[in-house]
Amino acid sequence: MTTATRDEILETPTTPTPAAGRSVDPVISVQNLWKVFGGKGADVPGSDELSALSRKELKERTGCVAAVCDLSFDVAPGEVFVVMGLSGSGKSTLVRCLTRLIEPTAGQVLFKGDDILQANERSLRELRRHSIAMVFQHFGLLPHRRVADNVSYGLEIRGTGKKERAQRAAEVIDLVGLSGYENSFPDQLSGGMQQRVGLARALAGDPEVLLFDEPFSALDPLIRRDMQNEVIRLHHEVGKTMVFITHDLSEALKLGDRILIMRDGRLVQIGTGADLVGAPADDYVRDFVREVPRSHVLTLRWIMRPVHADDVLDGPELGPEVVVRDAVRVVLEAERPIKVVEGGRLLGVVGDAEILSVVAES
Ligand code: ADP
Ligand code: MG
Repeated sequence: MTTATRDEILETPTTPTPAAGRSVDPVISVQNLWKVFGGKGADVPGSDELSALSRKELKERTGCVAAVCDLSFDVAPGEVFVVMGLSGSGKSTLVRCLTRLIEPTAGQVLFKGDDILQANERSLRELRRHSIAMVFQHFGLLPHRRVADNVSYGLEIRGTGKKERAQRAAEVIDLVGLSGYENSFPDQLSGGMQQRVGLARALAGDPEVLLFDEPFSALDPLIRRDMQNEVIRLHHEVGKTMVFITHDLSEALKLGDRILIMRDGRLVQIGTGADLVGAPADDYVRDFVREVPRSHVLTLRWIMRPVHADDVLDGPELGPEVVVRDAVRVVLEAERPIKVVEGGRLLGVVGDAEILSVVAES
């Protein structure tokens, strides 16, 4: 959600992006996933009585902690899918369940149609090495290895030859902006640079999916912003599917095509930033989005009105996914309401009144 120039806005395609359309096959599909910690955890998902209890009640009755409860969602190819929730809501458990770093209690995790929960040790190892890479908050770098060797470590384990390893390491080190630091040791680098090494390491094996568990939470705000921009840039350049965990709404809105909001292990709402701000599912979501300037997040789809019989429709047109903030000047400068058009179809119009009603409150 960056600010666009007038020309860019007028050129914004009016067809939805693949990530917005739900017709493509998901890369990851999570169905009725449970992780219940504790001795009798396995009894919970199958029991109507126990599975309906809140996390607190379940803990009191059985001593078990329901970290992830009956979660279902799909991640589309190329999408940045954000999972957000307060600390303790089950985000880390969820993301670790995706590659079985934590063994789920029940449910399904499909990677391109194959159930990861049925995979044997060998294919699971393959999956983690080749297909789904993870970037952690505490970088997890090997202190006695130089940057280049940290980055190529996964390739080494895979049995990739030395020359190819060095070449690939140099490529991804360049991609994350660390050229010149190949021979440094991790403790010679700042936190932000160490996290770039973590990113490069995850990218080295050219995985299809990158999982991020609050990778920037420990970084200073300015470095953090740089790293967020880095992820956006990388996403544009390499187009990977990403699952990004955060407890920070502004980070979620900045990065996420869609955002899943979790609370106490359960799904509260799933949608675009505009969905969450425009129609929060409950008070938990409303509290999260309260401070968000609506004009920065809501799109024209949310504020357009139906066409009136006396509207003169000779003004400019914009797509429904243009963010209000980016449309303010075009609309206010136009003599007449602008048309909101998608795939050649007129969806509605936006005039000064619609724009001002949103801008005034944010
Ligand atoms: P988040 O990443 O959103 O902060 P977590 O997934 O770390 O949340 O934790 C979710 C819940 O599961 C918390 O109540 C946490 O205490 C509990 N939990 C996490 N790991 C374990 C474990 N190994 N054993 C028991 N409870 C756990
Ligand atoms: Mg966590």
